[in-house]
Amino acid sequence: MNRIYLDHAATTPLDPRVFEAMLPFLKEQFGNASSVHALGRKARFAVEESRERIAAHLGAEPGEIIFTSGGTEADNAALRGMLHGTRRGLITSATEHEAILRTAEALEAGGHPVIMLTPQAHGAVTPEQLAEALTEQTGLVSLMHANNEIGTLTPVRAVAEICHAQGIPLHCDAVQTAGLFPLNVDDLGVDLMTISGHKFYGPKGVGVLYVRGGLDFQPLVVGGAQERRRRGGTENVAAVVGMAKAFDLATAEAGARSAHLTTLRDRLRAALCQALGEAFVFNTPFEADVEVAPHVVNIAFPPQDGQPLDGEMLLLNLDVEGVMASAGSACTSGALEPSHVLLALGRDRDTASASVRFSLGKDNTAEEIDQAVERLATILQRMNRQRHGATV
Ligand code: PLP
Repeated sequence: MNRIYLDHAATTPLDPRVFEAMLPFLKEQFGNASSVHALGRKARFAVEESRERIAAHLGAEPGEIIFTSGGTEADNAALRGMLHGTRRGLITSATEHEAILRTAEALEAGGHPVIMLTPQAHGAVTPEQLAEALTEQTGLVSLMHANNEIGTLTPVRAVAEICHAQGIPLHCDAVQTAGLFPLNVDDLGVDLMTISGHKFYGPKGVGVLYVRGGLDFQPLVVGGAQERRRRGGTENVAAVVGMAKAFDLATAEAGARSAHLTTLRDRLRAALCQALGEAFVFNTPFEADVEVAPHVVNIAFPPQDGQPLDGEMLLLNLDVEGVMASAGSACTSGALEPSHVLLALGRDRDTASASVRFSLGKDNTAEEIDQAVERLATILQRMNRQRHGATV
């Protein structure tokens, strides 16, 4: 039985071309980028050259790129870095990634007022909602580009205009869209932006926080002069080089990847409707006026005759049948708690707990999509017989 990986929003495989680019820096080019000798200078050159290329893809200046240990650190750094040492507050939304939500909680405990917006039923905060929420105390707005669980896109440009009219900077967690959409910081209007290497076929444990020049930003990690004193710690040269290569490839192949994902996504949607009929609902809002990322299809199985479906068992069964998907965000799977995103959007606990996120990648095939749906339908038939108490 072939194994079908449909969990690309959790992580993507390392592209072999990225691996090749990283290898020398895991072997003979092992220098510390802060050392003055030849090996150190080579490492420094590789880091700075990677920074320049990533900056160019984002329409940013190299000095505006801070390398981090990934998306989580970049999100933490963005919020704390902008609010630390001030008495100002944060506006964000209930469907953000835990990296934002937990940092917001900590900031609130430290005396920063936090306004937590509840997105519309389709999963995004509207510019009008944000405009109403802004106060004189607001020091930062943080809203994600694509939601990692259901794929809804925030209208970032419109949101940025509202922020800037009040002189408030905007941070955007673009972890799920980096490599899929052009992320020009000026076109989007963002002042800080998070991306993470392992979501676009780069290595894990490396990310970028873009910080617009001129902002008063305090480092989260201190103890070294690296990254212009904005993030201490010896640079992970191989990972930085790998992320830059992955971003080059994603940018060059963006059109083809996006078209492929959209085709597969539409095929998956149609196949699910055909195979499962009325048994499920889409959590991803496929509505004419809502923009969604092309790689995420999140579905839920509402209770039938008051009988909930065991979502965890469904995922385990899928895994046994060779289909790897996720219950929501990878960071919360393993825990039995239903997704905070689905709850915030008004799903009841039973339906939220019986949700599956399929997230597609550039190397998935139409055949894999068809096979995954066939296997899902077979599992559901079996589980439904059990759910309704019939003998199997
Ligand atoms: N933000 C979003 C929207 C994500 O989807 C993720 C990863 O799931 C992160 C942040 C965290 O990124 P990392 O895994 O690099 O820490």
